[in-house]
Amino acid sequence: MKCELVFVGTELLLGDILNTNAQYLSKKLAALGFDVLFQCVVGDNPERLKEVLKEGLERSDIIITTGGLGPTKDDLTKEVCASMFSLPLEMHEESLKRVHDYFKAKNAPMPKSNEKQALMPRGAVVFKNDNGTAPGCAIEKDGKHIIILPGPPREMHMMFENGALPYLKKYSTHVIISHSVRTFGIGESLMAEKAGELLDMQNPTVAPYAKSGEALLRVTAKAETEEEAEKLIAPVIGEIKNRLGSLVYGIDRGSMEEAVVALLKEKKLTLATAESCTGGLIAKRITDIPGASDIFGCGIVSYSNEIKHSVLGVQNELLEKYGAVSEAVAASMALGAKKASGADVAVSVTGIAGPASDNTNKPVGLVYIAVTDGENFRIKKLLTGHAEKGCRDYNRTVSASVALNEVRLFILEKESNKKDIESFIKSF
Ligand code: ATP
Ligand code: MG
Repeated sequence: MKCELVFVGTELLLGDILNTNAQYLSKKLAALGFDVLFQCVVGDNPERLKEVLKEGLERSDIIITTGGLGPTKDDLTKEVCASMFSLPLEMHEESLKRVHDYFKAKNAPMPKSNEKQALMPRGAVVFKNDNGTAPGCAIEKDGKHIIILPGPPREMHMMFENGALPYLKKYSTHVIISHSVRTFGIGESLMAEKAGELLDMQNPTVAPYAKSGEALLRVTAKAETEEEAEKLIAPVIGEIKNRLGSLVYGIDRGSMEEAVVALLKEKKLTLATAESCTGGLIAKRITDIPGASDIFGCGIVSYSNEIKHSVLGVQNELLEKYGAVSEAVAASMALGAKKASGADVAVSVTGIAGPASDNTNKPVGLVYIAVTDGENFRIKKLLTGHAEKGCRDYNRTVSASVALNEVRLFILEKESNKKDIESFIKSF
């Protein structure tokens, strides 16, 4: 079935609100196996809405609209849609009662204009609104369908799930299922190279994407049932994991911090942080994850050299000789956090976020990250390569992400960790 989406609202055209309904509906329809071929935003203007609907009905089987179902004069979607199929509007008694009840429950008088919301095109399948007053509906003529939903996302989502989805399912002949393999520490092009001929597959398809500094592969299968689609996907994800190894940090995971928290929980380990240039961002991201208290009890923001020394025990000689942004200091900070917190693992970050450098001639974007369990350790020198105006945010975000990934690799790749952090620090 060919499908298209029409979003009604002048505020969308003006950029006052983001069209989140578009993303929501596109995702839902893709999962149902419908091809969404066009999306269109149109203002609260009946003539232009008519134009869009006319064009849409010529090329698609189903049009879904959102917005313009309110009680005010500029809310005209239902009227215009009904006129496309030459259907008169009739009072829908059940909806009228629901509108009355809605106001009664709020102990508020019902404005006369709200009655208009219960007018429905003749023969429509009516969808009740559990989160508001405007019901939606579906109308059909000669195999073409228009599904009319309210604009407010809270109302629209609920009505889609309970009303439109069961209606649409009758016309869905297959499902489309996608899973994302999320990687860290590899660029999109290199990742695509490693995926090689998998990218040429037809079902499932494998497509590379770059998203907020990460690269991911989306594996999508089309089948008659969810189960069959999953069966097609599983071996392909297995093969991708083989090829990319620990670069893969999760399947469908929301974020690196989610992956790290899950891994620490699984291994029954606790984490502490000592942050300089990221100013607590790693701790923030860890504690964004519900249940983080199982694995996280201590985050130290040691922004000044004095605190690096007094709280974390970084030797003043190291700070003077190598500067705060150095391997020696990163390692000492991590060890200091480990000792101060008693956590199993500690991670430290020290770097130059920019836009100006510190008073050494180290480049903006230079960051050192250390992870230790008190004995074994891992140290990473990162050069973000970003020193332009406004780079600060980027450098801090990337540093925090790399630090989280280093924690992950420290736990997973034990054999590549170095030994004896105390001697390492003494060697400076
Ligand atoms: P109401 O009864 O609130 O008037 P309505 O069905 O007439 O509902 P609109 O008037 O078009 O819907 O939009 C009401 C509000 O819903 C908008 O101000 C906006 O906050 C939200 N909204 C509408 N369309 C969208 C959209 N496409 N994406 C996200 N939010 C939307
Ligand atoms: Mg409105």
